[in-house]
Amino acid sequence: MLFNTLSKYFEKLETTSKRLELVDILSKLFIESDSAEIGKICYLIQGRVAPFFEPVEMGMAESTIAQAVGKAFGRHKEDVIKSYRKLGNMGLAAKELATKAKRLTIKALSVSEVFGELRKIADYSGEGTVEKKVSTLAELLKKLDPISVKHVVNIPLGTLRLGIGDPTVMDALSLAKHGDKSLRPVIENAYNKTSDLGYVAETFFKKGISGIKNIKLVVGKPIRPALAERLPSAEEAVKRLGQEFAAEPKFDGFRVQVHLDRTRRQAGPVSSFPPASARSSKRSPQPDSESVDLRAVGSPSTAATRQPFVQLYSRNLENTTHAFPDLVKGVIEEVGAKIAILEGEAIAYNPQTEEFLPFQETTKRRRKYKIEEMAQKLPLVMFAFDLLYLNGKDISVQPYRERRKLLESIVKKDGKVVRLAEERVLHKAEDISKFFNEAISEGLEGLMLKKLDSPYVAGGRGFHWIKFKRAQSGELTDTVDCVLLGVYSGRGKRTAFGVGGLLVGVYDEKRDEFVTISRVGTGLTDEEFRKVNEISKHLRLSHKPARVNSKIEPSFWIEPKIVLEIYADEITRSPVHTAGWDPSTGSGFALRFPRLVKFREADKRAEDATTVKEVKKLYQNQFKKGR
Ligand code: AMP
Repeated sequence: MLFNTLSKYFEKLETTSKRLELVDILSKLFIESDSAEIGKICYLIQGRVAPFFEPVEMGMAESTIAQAVGKAFGRHKEDVIKSYRKLGNMGLAAKELATKAKRLTIKALSVSEVFGELRKIADYSGEGTVEKKVSTLAELLKKLDPISVKHVVNIPLGTLRLGIGDPTVMDALSLAKHGDKSLRPVIENAYNKTSDLGYVAETFFKKGISGIKNIKLVVGKPIRPALAERLPSAEEAVKRLGQEFAAEPKFDGFRVQVHLDRTRRQAGPVSSFPPASARSSKRSPQPDSESVDLRAVGSPSTAATRQPFVQLYSRNLENTTHAFPDLVKGVIEEVGAKIAILEGEAIAYNPQTEEFLPFQETTKRRRKYKIEEMAQKLPLVMFAFDLLYLNGKDISVQPYRERRKLLESIVKKDGKVVRLAEERVLHKAEDISKFFNEAISEGLEGLMLKKLDSPYVAGGRGFHWIKFKRAQSGELTDTVDCVLLGVYSGRGKRTAFGVGGLLVGVYDEKRDEFVTISRVGTGLTDEEFRKVNEISKHLRLSHKPARVNSKIEPSFWIEPKIVLEIYADEITRSPVHTAGWDPSTGSGFALRFPRLVKFREADKRAEDATTVKEVKKLYQNQFKKGR
């Protein structure tokens, strides 16, 4: 396919935010694509040249892009920046300059050719990197027609905002190849195992349905984590779990998925952090910010080291390998397997008193600077609770009890860094209450109850895992993970913070959209308001983002990326909010007296927020408790 054809599809996709139309346009694009380019197209749609979990970044900011655009079309960099300021988008500025320029070199480049050049730009490292990136991009732009120029320029800047979620791509793949959306579950299953839509799409195009049915776990491709359900009481949990079930403490740290392969070597020096590409990338961390986007952080694709291959992924599948050198070392020294994928929860402890620290302390480890210093100050222990892959075999399909046995054979109870999570096999509701109280008195968050005969359900919530969290005072037994959808400008004292109120929503998994559930005006400290402003500044939009369904209009919309854990007294129905909208009553769900518990921007993706289905259950559970 010509890149120009793809660009024309991007133009069409930009004109709509309606999901059905997006699926329809995408499926037409996929019908025109062949198996050699479909994977690349899936990455490009997300503005990437690799799957999102690979730390491959273009490493070009506005000023270097302006330099490349100027070089391509015979303009000064300042002219480009002026035009960019006028039009508000670098792609549009470049398109305008490309249209005006007298050019003889326009060529019909294919998607694969353009992808290859962009990947080359991302992969440059070492001396003279910036010059090489600028001249390669300028040469590429010179050859492209104006519409293609617009989109190519927006890719390195991360401003190619088509607003297409993974479920939309999966529906479109099914529609393109099968004429309807019925293959979505099969595609999703393969995606849950690898998190790599490009890889799944390419396999689907090359090997058909049986090919994707056969997709197994791959070391180096993160698995979408299994998620837990909630229930209102221990009795209800026993009903779901049966006569015999497992219980583990629920540690309040952050989830880590470890990929170890001693037959491969780690790429890049582990100590160089962050990689050069991440330092100059738009997505890269702001030096003054402790908030985390570790996506840009990981092993650079440079020479292999002598160290075995170890990659760490967060709950939202960001590559966090370089943030935790102490965990990497612990895995190499303590895990008794040649090849393995295991999961655990990492918690920081005080090295003097050996006491485990609360979440607010542990989360300080999720940063990009002073890594080694923080590793000394707040060392981590990872409590391993599951094993998914062992020595060449995908064991995620085996029952939990078998996986646990294998986990016990490779991780020690008293490991220094990697330690086996305690597990008890229980039978009754009283057993749960007893263990729960013990866990709480030890400062843990609660319990995780697990079905003994369940496989690992990648990317899925189900009653194979049930979480029991410490109830906060008030009526709701659990918090709601909300997505930040908008902010209100502050009045009075809050003017200085930049934000005076929040509009938050939850995820409607059926429609793949975000629906509003609350305005949060009080319930945040001054410091928290400032932090919201800081982490959301670069995600502000003047128009409603695609996939957001709202009846109210904040001062600024925010691209749905930031997850906040919110505690509320109660869930009520309200005509203002769209969560779980019921046309017969003209109302949706709303949170009463919402307040912020913690920022979860680092460990949950917007799509991992609480779902409408869960909110509905929380709403119904309130009544079960006799309210
Ligand atoms: P929540 O984030 O409140 O939905 O609870 C689920 C999270 O609990 C998982 O994503 C893990 O990070 C964490 N967790 C802590 N202990 C365990 C455990 N023993 N088994 C599974 N997950 C655990």
